Amino acid sequence: MLEVKGLCTHIGKIQILHDIDIEVNKGEIVSIIGANGAGKSTLLNTLAGLYRPTAGTVILENEMISGLPAFKVVAKGLSLVPEGRQIFSSLSVKENLMLGMFSKYYKEKKHANENLTRVLDMFPGLKKHLDNLGGNLSGGEQQMLAIGRGLMSNPKIILLDEPSMGLAPKIVNEILETLMVIKKELGTMVILVEQNVKAALQVTDRAFVLDQGRIILSGSREEISSNPQVMSAYLGIKANSA
Ligand code: ATP
Repeated sequence: MLEVKGLCTHIGKIQILHDIDIEVNKGEIVSIIGANGAGKSTLLNTLAGLYRPTAGTVILENEMISGLPAFKVVAKGLSLVPEGRQIFSSLSVKENLMLGMFSKYYKEKKHANENLTRVLDMFPGLKKHLDNLGGNLSGGEQQMLAIGRGLMSNPKIILLDEPSMGLAPKIVNEILETLMVIKKELGTMVILVEQNVKAALQVTDRAFVLDQGRIILSGSREEISSNPQVMSAYLGIKANSA
């Protein structure tokens, strides 16, 4: 379980996140919904140790991970698939994947091939590209590579920041279906930030709505999907026309 309590983040002197409480239970896909600038990426980056919170705690399976640097957070079992994929275009696909277990590499060197096999079973389309440069893959393949790299450390929880950005609807569906497989077959918890809220809610168990750095609403997929505020702001449905 991931438990986030009273989390605050400042960037410079400006407070971006205010008193965030969220939890992700084992086997759940949780979505964070919010308008541009609401603080979704800041939240994921704070959980991943890229920003140091100014208050609050993050506990992953009974271990405090808030305040740790990013490479230690990965080693504790939280992996971030960043916005824009951040593939190393001049490295091969295999090298990009191996970087995903860098923070655990010395301890788990013997598991490298095991992890690679597990990730390639999840993304068979990457197999034929292993020696190709990451930068030569299509957008969809790069997103698969970014998720695969995130899974290489065998995380307890994986955070995805806008995985559908710039991709065709068919590829977006494939990615969301993969998240279901990750949840079912690997038992990994997932936090998903997605502009395409309608698509995201199809694979989500629970969701939190973030507004100006504060959680203003939370509930099950059914509760969030039928909430009038969410329907009009994020699903393009007028509440009385549903
Ligand atoms: P989007 O959907 O556009 O990615 P978001 O919900 O992910 O938005 P954030 O990127 O977390 O929002 O940004 C939240 C707020 O923090 C915004 O007002 C943004 O301008 C501000 N912010 C984020 N990063 C920085 C930074 N490095 N310096 C200054 N302000 C920042």
